Amino acid sequence: MKTNWDVIVIGAGMAGLSAAQQLRAAGKDVLVLEKSRGVGGRMATRRTDAGQWDHGAQYFTARSATFRRQIALWLRANVVSRWHEPIYAWDGTTLQASSPQQRFVGKPTMNAPLRAMAAQLVIELSAQVSCISRSCGAWSVHSESKTWQAPELVLAIPAPQVARLLPATHPLQAATAQVTMQPCWAVMISSKHAIHLPFAGLFVNETNVNDDVLSWIALDSSKAGRSGQHWVLHASVAWSLAHLDDTPDMVIDALCQAFSRLLKQWGQSKPSWQAATAHRWLYARGNAEAPITQDASDGLAIAGDWLAGGRVEGAYLSGVAAADILLTHSAN
Ligand SMILES: Cc1cc2nc3c(=O)[nH]c(=O)nc-3n(C[C@H](O)[C@H](O)[C@H](O)COP(=O)(O)OP(=O)(O)OC[C@H]3O[C@@H](n4cnc5c(N)ncnc54)[C@H](O)[C@@H]3O)c2cc1C
Repeated sequence: MKTNWDVIVIGAGMAGLSAAQQLRAAGKDVLVLEKSRGVGGRMATRRTDAGQWDHGAQYFTARSATFRRQIALWLRANVVSRWHEPIYAWDGTTLQASSPQQRFVGKPTMNAPLRAMAAQLVIELSAQVSCISRSCGAWSVHSESKTWQAPELVLAIPAPQVARLLPATHPLQAATAQVTMQPCWAVMISSKHAIHLPFAGLFVNETNVNDDVLSWIALDSSKAGRSGQHWVLHASVAWSLAHLDDTPDMVIDALCQAFSRLLKQWGQSKPSWQAATAHRWLYARGNAEAPITQDASDGLAIAGDWLAGGRVEGAYLSGVAAADILLTHSAN
């Protein structure tokens, strides 16, 4: 693959692919570099012989006209579907329907819309960028074994990773280094028998329930294109922080026990779990406290959910904004 491009985008999550899509539509020769073996980032699905689970983002919503337009295209392409199942909230006393809103999921996996975007782009997978530098009007982007060059660069990765890649003297370094992102332990389990609950997704208000382990429970297989009894449990931020270095087995045990305690409270018998696995998201969620202004005068733009509300929609919009900044700058 060639090494010189108009723009290099680092990160093939929603922000990076959204930026790359806009830049390519504007006629730029774009290369996306992604450290993982697949695209999607935190819009992730774990697939094993026992089943599949969306263990990162659970669903997404659309408040802006821009994102709604994109979702309409994905719905037409059948890579996104509405999640009609009831979503509830638990405050320790009552199970209540959560605020009604349109929720969307990738179909048949959470990263399906990203795979559709990726099909139109040039992406190098398993390419972890370790260092970037600028000289003679071009950015050099290095992995362990390769170097690529481009006059323009988009960093579409979580804030702490941006702060590590940016040169210490870069004007955006200090602001990005201040953004904290919270971890989340996710557990994926299957139950041998159907568990009958009134919801497919549940927000657990961990402060009220006096049991701070869980923040979210979902019957993942209730989403379109899935089947079986596959559940996703997310630990609360406080619990994840306190148990960051626990082993996956310890985490599976704690989260399954917390779920069983809730089921007991709701009059359900203890389920038999099988096929349990855990994943630690070190940078699950986060949001810059103050807006970060960027002018791309050196051809560099940053994108990521943490710049725009910490959700899938924010990631998409931040990618559009990063592309706009670069296109405006290169037009002047
Ligand atoms: C447990 C959990 C639950 C969530 N639930 C929801 C939800 O219900 N609704 C919602 O809207 N949002 C949710 N989110 C947030 C949502 O997933 C994110 O907002 C969105 O996916 C972020 O996209 P992004 O492109 O900004 O970042 P990411 O998806 O993190 O993409 C960054 C990409 O960059 C790659 N990368 C990083 N460093 C390098 C490097 N040095 N070189 C090359 N590649 C690199 C990563 O591998 C990754 O693929 C959740 C997140 C988590 C973890």
